[in-house]
Formats: sequence, structure tokens, C-alpha cells
Amino acid sequence: MYNKKIKEDNMNKQDFNEGLLGFLDASPTPFHATLNMSLMFANAGFTKLNEVDKWELEAGKKYYVTRNDSSVIAFTYPKEHTNYVMVGAHTDSPNLKLKPNPVIKEHGIVKFGVESYGGLLLTPWFDRDLSLAGRVSFLDTQDKLQSVLIDVKKSIATIPSLAIHLDDKANKDKTVNKQTDVCPVLTTDDSFDYDMFLRWQLENAGRPDVKEIYASELSFYDTQKASYIGLSDDFIASARLDNLLSCYVGMLSLCSVNDEKPMLFIASDHEEVGSESTSGAAGSFLESTLKRIAPEYDEYMKMIRSSIMISADNAHAIHPNFPFKHDSKHTPHLNKGVVIKVNANQRYASNSVTISKFMDSAKSINEALQHFVTRSDMGCGSTIGPITATRLGIETIDVGLPTLGMHSIRELAGSSDALSLYKILVAFKN
Ligand code: ZN
Repeated sequence: MYNKKIKEDNMNKQDFNEGLLGFLDASPTPFHATLNMSLMFANAGFTKLNEVDKWELEAGKKYYVTRNDSSVIAFTYPKEHTNYVMVGAHTDSPNLKLKPNPVIKEHGIVKFGVESYGGLLLTPWFDRDLSLAGRVSFLDTQDKLQSVLIDVKKSIATIPSLAIHLDDKANKDKTVNKQTDVCPVLTTDDSFDYDMFLRWQLENAGRPDVKEIYASELSFYDTQKASYIGLSDDFIASARLDNLLSCYVGMLSLCSVNDEKPMLFIASDHEEVGSESTSGAAGSFLESTLKRIAPEYDEYMKMIRSSIMISADNAHAIHPNFPFKHDSKHTPHLNKGVVIKVNANQRYASNSVTISKFMDSAKSINEALQHFVTRSDMGCGSTIGPITATRLGIETIDVGLPTLGMHSIRELAGSSDALSLYKILVAFKN
């Protein structure tokens, strides 16, 4: 499913994108993305670490560690722990999450109550073929607590639109109520039993030994597969391109570099809701890991201040139907290269020094770059870049791949840009 050719110098676009499409489809939640990246690191020779064990790191080896099953850090461990090239991304995407007691039976239909996660565009969620995935925690028949990932895969629900005949404002000033309008409908069989449904899913996941289910974190996702779109396969359309695109690129670039290059990759959960959690970028995961790589304070500070964080998160490409939403001098185009993001108010952490380093690396391998700054009369999104820079004091640059329809259930990116970012990261010198 994943890219078999990670060690080849001349990775071609088709091989690269095939692996990307497989990763997107296999990663409907941050839990699945983290599991898939972990498998990829293990296949590439990285040794798994556990945060609750004593770490005895050996120079020349490479390692990975996860937290909450939803964030992962992987790194090379050369003799000297300075001048790390760090790449940061996030595993989460906006979605509809199941409530703890989700079942609503009314009007001849069984539907699920959901909470919206992050700043999602709600209207694209209507009339999609939805499935459900995430983590379930339960007591097994040996009275041990277990947590297992499930992915229903089959389309089991949909959110039907209200017919235009019943909504004469549908094409004028439509609003969507998050509590009442987006409950996915599941079945007309009102004997539906949610506990039985989850037990069945756990059995499918290889766990028939369930005594009692205690809790779950499940998200709906679109079953339409990631795919090429466009006359010449110009685009990649998929859910969760923000930010699994950067996860895939960051993961693959670390797997491809020489073991002697000091490089680290982190993919954090909860970016879309502000990063404040044990597994979010505002939490302690990266700092704790760096302190175990360089336990002595002076060595730790040398590492922090000689390293660079490349925060990779998608950038807004200019929309051909809404060009006025961009500053006319900063209009990233799809398939025209990686975007460097700046913001005077530090919503992005790039500065002229980190930008120069990035530009120099791109120039050395003839990869094109673009620049983005938001219109001065509009607000600006943010990333894990400023959070990491603030929390740890690592010099940081914010970059991203140009995207349309960000936070839609189906986003659009150029089919050439991800490979370009990969090449820059592999070539990056710090
Ligand atoms: Zn993002």
C-alpha cells in the first residue's frame, strides 16, 4: 500500500502519489494515521520506543515513539545532537465525531448525534456516503482494559439534504445548525443496538473477547477514495489533505535520508482545535522527547538553538472563482511549488533567516517556491509553527502545499507539489 521505493534517489511522481493515495485512504482518523506512519517507520528500520520505559539510545540507530496513539515522533540519532532538521505536521482534520450516547430514534429513522470537531465546512458533508472509524476502549474477558482501533469501511450512514422545495432559501442564505442539521442517518430498523454494533466492529478487528465497552472516540468519514482529478491528472482530491499530505511527505523524507543526518519528524494531534492536549503541539511531547535525546541541559540547549523546525501545513492556493480573496501579489498556484507563509502578527513563525535557509535548499535542487501572506483586511489561520517556536525556542519556518477547499470533506491539491516538498526536505541542509 505504501511506497516501496523510499530508498531510491529518483522517486518518480507516480510512485510517490500512489503511496500518498493509499496512505490517505488507510488513515480515516489520527489514530489510523499514527498507526500507518508507525508501521512505515518500523519497515524503514526505526526502533519503537515507549515513553514509560527507560530509553537507552545508541548512536547510529533511529527511533520512533507515539503518544495517545494519535501523535508520533521519529528521529535519527547520530553521535552529535545538534543542527537537527525537524519537520512538523498534524494528524487531525475537521470532522463530525460521535457523541457518547449517540443513538436517536425518531420519525422512522435511527440517526447518530454528532459534535463538530475543528473548523469544518459543513455543507460538503451532505449527501455523502459515510463510514465510521476511531478508537474503542473496553474491558476484555480477562478483566484487562484494552483500546483497539476500528474502521467500519462500509458506507453505513448519510446526511440527506433538505429538498429545495422545502427550503426556498437553500441557494441564497443557507445556514447549517451543528446540533440539529447534520445527524447522519443510519437505518430504518429501530431495533438497532449501539453496543451490539460496537461489539461486532471489535470482533471484525480481531477482538471477540469483549466483556464491557466503556468509551469510544469515533469519527465519520467519506468513503469516496482519494483520487486523481483533472484532464492530465493535474489534481489530487481527497479528505484530510490538510494535513495528511504533510504527514506523508515528512514521514517519507525522514525514511529517505542518511542515518547520519540529524533529522526529526513530528506529527501532532489536535491542531485543528488549538493544539492544547497531551498529544497536541502545545503539550509536552516534543520537549520530553528532545530532553531524552539530549538529557544534559547544555547539550539540550545547543540542540534547540542550532536546529530548525519546518512546520508543514497546507496553504491557500488562489481560487479561480474567488481571486479577490487573495492579496494580488501573493497568489499561490496549484502545481507551482511549495508555499512559504509569513504573517507580521506571528500567526506563522517564518522569519527572514529561516526563509533564506529554506530558499537556499530549494534553489540548490532547482525546486520552485511561492509566497503567501493573507490580505491585510482578513484574518489569518495559524499552525503548529508559532506554538513550537514559542514553547521550545526553536527557529521555525511555516511552509505548505497549495490547496483549494481547505477543511471541506474533499479537498484539492496539485499532483506535483507534494513530491517537490519531499525533495526539498531530503536535500535540506542546516
Ligand atoms: Zn492544517
